[in-house]
Amino acid sequence: MASAKSETGPSKSEPNPKPESGAKSATTSFDLVVIGAGPGGYVAAIRAAQLGMSVACIDKEKELGGTCVRVGCIPSKALLESSELYHESREAFAKHGVLFEKLHLDLDAMQKRKNDVVKSNTSGVDYLFKKNKITRFVGTGRITGPGRVAVEGSDKAGSDKAGADKIELTAKHVLIATGSVSAPLKGIELDGDRIGTSTEALTYSEVPARFAVIGAGAIGLELGSVWARLGSKVTVFEYMDRILPGMDAEISAEALKILKKQGLEFRLGSRVTAAKKRGKVCIVECDGKEPFECDRVLLAVGRKPNTQGLGLDSIGLALDERGRVPVDDHFATPVAGVFAIGDVIRGPMLAHKAEEEGVACVEHIATGYGHVNYDAIPNVVYTSPEIASVGKTEEELQQAGTDYKKGSFPFSANGRARALGQTEGRVKILADRTTDRVLGAHIIGPRAGDLIAEIAVSIDFGASSEDIARACHAHPTLAEAVKEAALGVDKRSIHI
Ligand code: FAD
Repeated sequence: MASAKSETGPSKSEPNPKPESGAKSATTSFDLVVIGAGPGGYVAAIRAAQLGMSVACIDKEKELGGTCVRVGCIPSKALLESSELYHESREAFAKHGVLFEKLHLDLDAMQKRKNDVVKSNTSGVDYLFKKNKITRFVGTGRITGPGRVAVEGSDKAGSDKAGADKIELTAKHVLIATGSVSAPLKGIELDGDRIGTSTEALTYSEVPARFAVIGAGAIGLELGSVWARLGSKVTVFEYMDRILPGMDAEISAEALKILKKQGLEFRLGSRVTAAKKRGKVCIVECDGKEPFECDRVLLAVGRKPNTQGLGLDSIGLALDERGRVPVDDHFATPVAGVFAIGDVIRGPMLAHKAEEEGVACVEHIATGYGHVNYDAIPNVVYTSPEIASVGKTEEELQQAGTDYKKGSFPFSANGRARALGQTEGRVKILADRTTDRVLGAHIIGPRAGDLIAEIAVSIDFGASSEDIARACHAHPTLAEAVKEAALGVDKRSIHI
């Protein structure tokens, strides 16, 4: 380990570059150059700086934070929260005895708040870069040879001319964290407005009367829910015969029922072959079915790794069969000194997965240690109610021939859920029949995204369902449903 560290670890002798955000730096030689300032790249940059490396981070966008902060997790959750409040105020407040004379939607104000939330997060990353003395370059990063990265001017750098000239950086280590972009679909004519991706669907200035969503994954369902709550008639087209492919089938069937009750219409088993503008309307076509007329279309069939223009040829780095940068267990590519993390490599495209990989990658470079436990990465869909999972689904356990036990507890039997008036859904815990070790958990219900953390930690620590069941959970809380589901694994839930 010591030799690995001295070969690849940080050089303390080189001074840290000037902590100027978005400005040209006199220093062009770094221990680590990170391409991409999304949650993978910026977190890796911060951790590497904490470990004593001199670090530069390049992003072609002026705002830091990547897809997640600018056009993904953060703005979508801001709109989900606002639209949920609007919906609750119309549908649920009266039950609480809170009555309004008049209620109306100010979409401009809602969008402005979302933009403010994004801004506070992008400036937060800016602050962290300064605090950690990370040199930031605005421009497109292109690998030009071993240990060499060019930063080329980006039009999007705007008034801040940083990155407008070509700058050559040298690096002991290069980390590719260029994320992903929306996957295209043959026949869909994206116009960056009425037929668009999630980026456009986050910015509509009026509520579309008829909104078509292509793809019933997390992004399609979340943004479909936003506009449904604000008044759109939402129709979701999905190629598979179920929603949320990859999630536990029982939980996704329950989600389908709940979302239908909320007014979303689903056309499952539908292969969309075209979406185009016809005058003032959009037309969605499915195999052999009547063309569907609507006002806006969201294409949300997944995302693909973003490697365009990265210059991988210059170092002989070939992509895998799915266009991803190939890496080993320590995020090293087959090319010495080049690493990759986040959406651009294998595994779930999730912000927290990218962050964990960023930390593990640079810790391994600096210390020889660094690890991500892929069995304990939670996945959350922020519909209402939320849907969250971690570990194996029942189908995966059955396919692997694993003998398992299952405990399930409905929120309708949880006191806090009743007080909140949010009793839909359940917690389901799967444990090994012999060892009782927790193998997976699936929750649909209020704050499922927060509740799943307890089970992710349990899986990480190799806990049994009995460990969760015997831990004292505060009353009255939603977390008691987790304890009850754990008790249910041994058929000893108290409240059902
Ligand atoms: P990214 O965040 O994509 O960042 C890559 C960065 O690299 C970008 O800033 C890009 O400008 C930059 N870049 C690319 N190429 C170059 C280049 N050559 N030179 C310079 N810069 C370059 N995940 C969750 O975990 N939870 C959620 O709730 C969630 N919601 C989402 C909602 C939406 C609408 C979308 C689209 C995604 C959502 N995701 C969510 C997914 C999440 O955003 C991604 O998994 C995450 O951002 C991946 O992080 P990353 O660091 O790998 O890449």
